Amino acid sequence: MASLENATRTAEGVVVKGFVISPVVEQCAGCDRVRDFEGEQFCSSYPSPASKWAGGRCNFATHVKAQTTAAAKVNPLKASKRAAKGR
Ligand code: SF4
Repeated sequence: MASLENATRTAEGVVVKGFVISPVVEQCAGCDRVRDFEGEQFCSSYPSPASKWAGGRCNFATHVKAQTTAAAKVNPLKASKRAAKGR
């Protein structure tokens, strides 16, 4: 795993370019943006991975495919009406 660039350990925590950063969360496991620093894993793209996952899938995750497919977007009510007409 690549190591985190420009990181320093300070009293407040690990700091990159003036930002205190938080370790990755378990959902980040396998993501290409995870970086190692002193035995802990951090995200190379976000200072706070937990907040990236708080509202659903992290939009920068490289290891999780988007869940929405064309089929999932079909409105089920309209689809059943269309099916009924076809009888
Ligand atoms: S890009 Fe998202 S999933 Fe990947 S390590 Fe960063 S916060 Fe985690």
